[in-house]
Amino acid sequence: MKVAVLSGKGGTGKTFVSVNLAAAAQNATYIDCDVEEPNGSLFLKPENVTVTTVHTLLPAFDAGRCNGCRKCVDFCRFNALAFIKGKPKVFPEICHSCGGCVLVCPAGAVSEHKRPVGRVERGMHGRVSVVSGVLNLGEASAVPVIRAALAEGLTGEGHTIIDCPPGSGCPVLESVSASDACLLVAEPTAFGLHNLQMVVEMVRLLSKPCGIVINKMEAPYEPLEEYCRQSGIPVLSRIPYGETLARLNAAAQIACEQDPGSRLLFDALLQRMEAEMKP
Ligand code: SF4
Ligand code: SF4
Repeated sequence: MKVAVLSGKGGTGKTFVSVNLAAAAQNATYIDCDVEEPNGSLFLKPENVTVTTVHTLLPAFDAGRCNGCRKCVDFCRFNALAFIKGKPKVFPEICHSCGGCVLVCPAGAVSEHKRPVGRVERGMHGRVSVVSGVLNLGEASAVPVIRAALAEGLTGEGHTIIDCPPGSGCPVLESVSASDACLLVAEPTAFGLHNLQMVVEMVRLLSKPCGIVINKMEAPYEPLEEYCRQSGIPVLSRIPYGETLARLNAAAQIACEQDPGSRLLFDALLQRMEAEMKP
């Protein structure tokens, strides 16, 4: 099963849940699509890491051929081109590599060349294949690196755990697109409930099976429990807010490999995912 792990905001424990699920499943692939801040490998500490550079295509302009018609600038819906001193100029961070400016140029003055925007790292943690997308600093679009990480990781056997970026924007949609089901991680607070509602709206549009994990739970937060009941989405696990988990997490340890209680918790979560989130 390919499971996207989501939360409406950072800090809910999305990566904590993802890396522990992958470790509990053992024969699994973990894909870190939170490419602006990939931190799953801090926990999984993969060995024998290989690195592949991710490129996008960027237009280049031949001043000798350009007749100054501005068709390329007018075409670009992303405002990545400006006409300056009689010549088109591209702003690389905004360009979406759609190739449109190449097609509309009547003078054959536009060509494309490769530009590095990030990398995909792949290594092993025991039997868990660890794939991390890493976006270069200053890049505006995470999507090309997310696509490359998914292309690298989705070929694996066993469970695939996709650690998505926070929020509900384009990078999240891209990360969720290839999954069979979505696991939504929420905190038992008013803010956590609000963020969960945002993510539920998004995954409902995608019509994928869902389950909820309530993390950092001390006592039930009744508005969240009521929302889960009304939404009809099953709560598959309630992870307690305890000192052991907090200490292991702070030390970048995989809790289910160090603590028998955590192992039982994540084994049970895997079983419920398999039973209740079937595509
Ligand atoms: S490739 Fe597309 S997004 Fe980039 S400059 Fe050309 S038209 Fe604009
Ligand atoms: S469409 Fe071609 S010829 Fe026209 S301004 Fe752009 S590069 Fe120059």
